Amino acid sequence: MSNLLPSPEALPCEADAASTPSMTAYPARAADLGGGLVVRRALPRGERRLVGPWCFLDHFGPLAFDAGKPMDVAPHPHIGLQTVTWLLEGEVLHKDSLGSEQMIRPGQLNLMTAGRGISHSEETPPRHSRALHGLQFWLALPEAHRHTAPAFHHHRELPVVDLGEGRAIVVIGDLGGVRSPARTYSTTLGAEVAADRDGRIEIPLARGFEHAILPIRGHAGLDDTVLAPDTLYYLGTGRERLSLRVRAGARLMLLGGEPFSERVLMWWNFVARTPDEIAEARRDWQEGHARFGTVAAYAGDRLPAPPLTPRLRPPR
Ligand code: MN
Repeated sequence: MSNLLPSPEALPCEADAASTPSMTAYPARAADLGGGLVVRRALPRGERRLVGPWCFLDHFGPLAFDAGKPMDVAPHPHIGLQTVTWLLEGEVLHKDSLGSEQMIRPGQLNLMTAGRGISHSEETPPRHSRALHGLQFWLALPEAHRHTAPAFHHHRELPVVDLGEGRAIVVIGDLGGVRSPARTYSTTLGAEVAADRDGRIEIPLARGFEHAILPIRGHAGLDDTVLAPDTLYYLGTGRERLSLRVRAGARLMLLGGEPFSERVLMWWNFVARTPDEIAEARRDWQEGHARFGTVAAYAGDRLPAPPLTPRLRPPR
């Protein structure tokens, strides 16, 4: 996915971890990705810019369609992050400058490591199930790994943790001692929680992490709060478990991680540290530099970079 919000300046993002359990609601806002695909952006959102290393979260669908191509994000570049694509319904075809061409379906993970530079496209394939519902997350890469070589991995199967009245698919990191095979570069967690029956779901958490939950569908409650869909609930740190009241069919995403110890700058599809790096990455993309390669398998033009206002403040 590409960040097409008209933001001409880079956004500084640094950890703002509550030192205790807390709960703050951040309603998502709509963003048009082009071609009519409207997503709800849950991160960054106002003052909440990071949850652990998670720095970006878009939720798209559910959509039903007969014809057309609801997702068609033309080739665009990334640096300094990993993209996590997760579907609940439908299909998305990923193509990248490494030559990868991978269909993703519900329950599978596409994990792309941009490192020093990659480009990719994401589109509804010609043969599809006429549905689309999913999420895309970005993980900021820490300093020691952000210039790593680009990579792409597809995980067809992921481990599941039994949670009594429900279960969690461990997409990223570790939950309850069950570990995802996906390679990440920070101590972090991403899981899809699903309620099988009405009742209570008890989720073990890492005390040192900050956590957030994003309800996707159905009914769930935490303490005295009924959780609203498409609202990111930031939960602070210091929790050893989360006890959710759920009705059968509820689905939520759970994110967590150690508070990220670096201040990052986000602009368009880049996660960097300095304004100069962002300007250089933009220039490299616009000039067709080898750093970002070519998505040869995509039929169509690539996305041009938006204008960059050079009023960026370097990190403190
Ligand atoms: Mn992308």
